[in-house]
Amino acid sequence: MTRLAARVGRIDSSGIRKIFDLARSLKDPINLSIGQPDFDVAPAIKDAAISAIRAGRNTYTQTQGIPELRELVVRDEASYTGRTYAPEQVLITSGVSGGLFLALLTLVDDGDEVIIPDPYFVMYKHLVNLFGGTPVYLDTYDTGFGIDAERLEKLITKKTKLLLLNSPGNPTGRIFPKAELEAIAKVCAKHGITVISDEIYRAFSYVPTTSMAEVYPETLVLVGHSKTFGMTGWRLGYACGSAEIIQAMTKVQQYSFVCAPSVVQYAALACPNVDSTDNINAYRRKRDLMVGILSSKFELAPPDGAFYLWAKAPNGLTGDQFVDLAIKNNMLIIPGSVFSERTSHFRICYTVKDEVLKRGAELLCKLADSKAAKG
Ligand code: PMP
Repeated sequence: MTRLAARVGRIDSSGIRKIFDLARSLKDPINLSIGQPDFDVAPAIKDAAISAIRAGRNTYTQTQGIPELRELVVRDEASYTGRTYAPEQVLITSGVSGGLFLALLTLVDDGDEVIIPDPYFVMYKHLVNLFGGTPVYLDTYDTGFGIDAERLEKLITKKTKLLLLNSPGNPTGRIFPKAELEAIAKVCAKHGITVISDEIYRAFSYVPTTSMAEVYPETLVLVGHSKTFGMTGWRLGYACGSAEIIQAMTKVQQYSFVCAPSVVQYAALACPNVDSTDNINAYRRKRDLMVGILSSKFELAPPDGAFYLWAKAPNGLTGDQFVDLAIKNNMLIIPGSVFSERTSHFRICYTVKDEVLKRGAELLCKLADSKAAKG
């Protein structure tokens, strides 16, 4: 019999898998579970990909990414965060997932503690466990899903290595304001903690947003193309940070991913020609629509960005119980237990057509009032 490595026993994908299996078994469900945009890749980017294939850009690239794309990243980051990176401080990755994988593999030693604000993006906990680290959760439920710097400092021990931030956040849509980031930076500087800042939803900001890299130099920023340009299947993103970390991540990429997909790297050179404003405004409007309908029946934190709503299950039900009820009524949403050590909430993704969204919101309200929900 094969004996699997112990590390895979430390991770578990049953929660989210159950939802995806159910998605396949339901007939035409109202599906508010999928965390991706509903717009397609812009024609200019598609054309650039097709041209790249035709021009024979089909071979391995430099492990660190093609120089033209790294230069574009340097320019984009300078205009977004005011920080100027040297090209060796930029690594092109296979999505932010690739960036997270390399960053954690590069930075986490056995027994290192990684502080993760709770709720969190599902991958963080599992990757930290996979690589032998210990996730330490910073509960944010009673601080409006913000980070209390004093609470953060109390969690720090001699073993603390990293803080993982995600703003705008999945699943809450919370954006950490500049003052909050500055308070976090002060604590991290005092204790010599590196921050990994996952800014994949940066473009989907409905209030002013600041990058952690602006206020704290020891930040490794992860940015991705998946959500901004609707190219989740194309697998592209990048990491910027100290040359030491980026070079170490590059070494690990050399023996794992090798390089991000070549054609997609060339296609991404067309991204500056694409205006995403309409797509982003459409999601802002959908957010307002959902908050407007659901606020009367659910306790929810109006999101500042991304495209999720994080709501408390009604009438003392757990998120899992409420999601079961939704599934019985042919609607898919995700139980909060997938994203949290608590089980009180559920997540909605609102990147669907208005008509489906309205039907979904009405059904959610009906379920909140139903006898089944009230027990
Ligand atoms: N970080 C967050 C917070 C996410 O929500 C996602 C995707 N759902 C990712 C990273 C990974 O995205 P990708 O690998 O497609 O860039």
